[in-house]
Amino acid sequence: MTDETVRFGLLCSMFEAMLRDRTSAKKRKRLRTFLDVAYTGREYFSAVRLILPGLDRERGTYGLKESALANALVDALGISKDSDDARKLVNWRKGGARAGANAGNFSLVAAEVLQRRQGMASGGMTIKELNDALDRLASCENRGDKAAILSDLIKKTNPVEMKWILMIILKELKLGISEKSIFHEFHPDAEDLFNVTCDLKLVCDKLKDPSQRHKRQDIDVGKAVRPQLAMRVSNASTAWKKLHGKNVVVECKFDGDRIQIHKNGGEIHFFSRNFLDHTEYSHGMSGVILQNVLADRCILDGEMLVWDTAAQRFAEFGSNQEIAKAAREGLESDRQLCYIVFDILYAGDTSVIHQSLTERQALLQKVVKPLKGRLEILVPNGGLNDIRSAGEPCWSIIAHTLDDVEKFFKQTVENRDEGVVLKDLGSKWEPGDRSGKWLKLKPDYIHAGADLDALIIGGYFGSGRHGGEVAQFLVGLAEQSDSGYPKRFVSFCRVGTGLSDEELDALVSKLKPYFRKNEYPKKVPHFYEVTNNSKERPDVWIDSPDKSVILSITSDIRTIKSEVFSAPYSLRFPRIQRVRYDKPWHECLDVQSFVDLVNTSNGN
Ligand code: ATP
Repeated sequence: MTDETVRFGLLCSMFEAMLRDRTSAKKRKRLRTFLDVAYTGREYFSAVRLILPGLDRERGTYGLKESALANALVDALGISKDSDDARKLVNWRKGGARAGANAGNFSLVAAEVLQRRQGMASGGMTIKELNDALDRLASCENRGDKAAILSDLIKKTNPVEMKWILMIILKELKLGISEKSIFHEFHPDAEDLFNVTCDLKLVCDKLKDPSQRHKRQDIDVGKAVRPQLAMRVSNASTAWKKLHGKNVVVECKFDGDRIQIHKNGGEIHFFSRNFLDHTEYSHGMSGVILQNVLADRCILDGEMLVWDTAAQRFAEFGSNQEIAKAAREGLESDRQLCYIVFDILYAGDTSVIHQSLTERQALLQKVVKPLKGRLEILVPNGGLNDIRSAGEPCWSIIAHTLDDVEKFFKQTVENRDEGVVLKDLGSKWEPGDRSGKWLKLKPDYIHAGADLDALIIGGYFGSGRHGGEVAQFLVGLAEQSDSGYPKRFVSFCRVGTGLSDEELDALVSKLKPYFRKNEYPKKVPHFYEVTNNSKERPDVWIDSPDKSVILSITSDIRTIKSEVFSAPYSLRFPRIQRVRYDKPWHECLDVQSFVDLVNTSNGN
C-alpha cells in the first residue's frame, strides 16, 4: 500500500473507536496501531495533519467557521434556504432533531442532515484525495467554488466520513485525547520539537522512529515558537503564595493580539499565537521595527495594540485589523498600530530564552529603542510607563509585598485593563509552557443567574482623559414599596468599567440634563439613601430617578459585605455589562431580591 491507497475511512474508524474508548491509554494505543499498521514507513504528515488539524500550517485557512460552513453546505446540497434542513444547519447552536444531544455541535447537526441524503456506504476516498480536496478548499476564495468542492466530497463519502471532514475543516476533532498525548504517542520528542518550530510537517518528517531520540532543538529566527502562556489564578494571595520567595514583576495584561516579531535583516514576520504570519501588520509596523530594533536578527514577544494619539490611550480591543488596513491604504488616522514588547527570545545569533527574565529585560532595553505610541517596551519603572498620563498608574511594577500586587491589580481593573500578569524574574522563557511561571489574574466576572439591574443615582468625574466629565456612576437598588413604583433607592456600588468610550459618551450626554451638582450644602436628594461615607458622595446626583437609566452589572463571584454603601452587600470589581435603555427606571432590582440572590449564590 502506498499513501495513495490508505483510505480515509480507516482513519474515521479509528476516530469512532477513540470516541468509545474510556481511557486516554486506549486511545493512544489505537493511534499507535494505526501508525504501525496502516501507515508504517509512510509519510506520516499526510495523516497526522488530519488528526491535529489545528496545528497544520501547510495550507492556508479555509475561511469557513460554522455559519459560513452551514451556508456552503446548503449550497453544496442544493437545498432551499427555507427548508427545515437548511434552518437546522444555520441554527446549529439550537441543534437538529435530536436537539439535546447535538445542539451546539455543528458537525453532528450536519451529519444528521447528511444522513438523509447520503448513502451509508463509503465511497472509498483516500487520505491523499482528501488532502488534495482540502488544499483546493483552502485556496479558493468564492463561496460557489467552496460549495462545489464540498458537494464533490459529499458524493465521495458517507455521513460518518463527512462528519469527520467537517470537524477537520473546523479544526477540532473532540476526540477526548489531548494534543500532548497524541504527540507523546507519536514520538517522545514530538511536542518539544513542535514547540520550537510550530512546523508539523517537519516534526513528522524528522521523528519517524519513536525509539530514536532527537537532540533538543533551540528556537531560531524565522520559525514561529509556541508562546509561553499564563496560568490563571483566582486571587492575588494565591498568586503571591505560588511565587513565594521569587522576585516578582507584575505587568498590566494588555488586551490585543499576541504577536511574535521575527526580524532577520530586512525580513520581518508577525507570528500570531496560532503561528500564522500576519503580514497585514507589515505596512504599519515594519518601518518602525527596521529603524528601532537595533539587532539585525532577533525575536521579540509582545502584544499588538492600537494607540489613539488624540485620546492618548490604547483603543478598545478589536480595531487592530481595521487600523492595519488603514495603514496599508495610506489613510490618515488618529489611531496607529503600537507594539508592546514584553520579552526578547533571540538576539544576534543566539537564543536567549534560557536566560532569566531580568537578564532578558536588560537586553530588551539595549535592543529596542522605544518610539512613543508605536513601539514600547514593558519593563518596570521605565519605557512604556512614560505614556501613561500623570496621575494614572504605571504598567509594570516590581512587587515586594502582596499588598503591592493587590493595589496594582485594583488600579488596572479600575483603569479598564484586562487584569495583570505576574512573572518570576528569575525564570526562563519556555515554549508552550503554562505551568505557572506566568500567572494571570483577572476579575472573575459572573452573571449571577439574574440581571443585576441597578439604577444610576449619581456620577463621579473622571481624571486624566476623562477629566471634567462623568466617568463613573453610583448605582442604587430599589427599596421595596407596598404599592406602585419604588420611592427610594439605596446606594449599592460605584462602577466605571465595562463601557467603550463611545457608549460612555452616549450615556453621559443622555443624563447630563439631569445632573445636579453636589455642591455645598451637601444635601442628599430625599429619594436616595446613602451612608455617611465620603466615598458615597458623587460629584453629581441624578435630579430625579424617573429620568435615570438602568445598568446591568456583573461582578467578581464574591460579593462583599458593604461598609461603604447603604445596601448590605456590594460587588467586588463591578463592571457594566449593558446599558438598559430598554428597561424603565422602576424595574430596577430591589434590595431584598439582591440579598436573596447573594444568599443563593453563597449556598446559604
Ligand atoms: P486570555 O483569554 O485570558 O487573554 P489566553 O488564553 O489568550 O488568555 P493566556 O496565556 O492565558 O492567554 O494569557 C496570556 C496572554 O495575555 C498572552 O497570550 C498575551 O496575549 C496576553 N498578554 C497581555 N499582556 C501581557 C503581558 N504583559 N505579559 C504576557 N502576556 C500578556
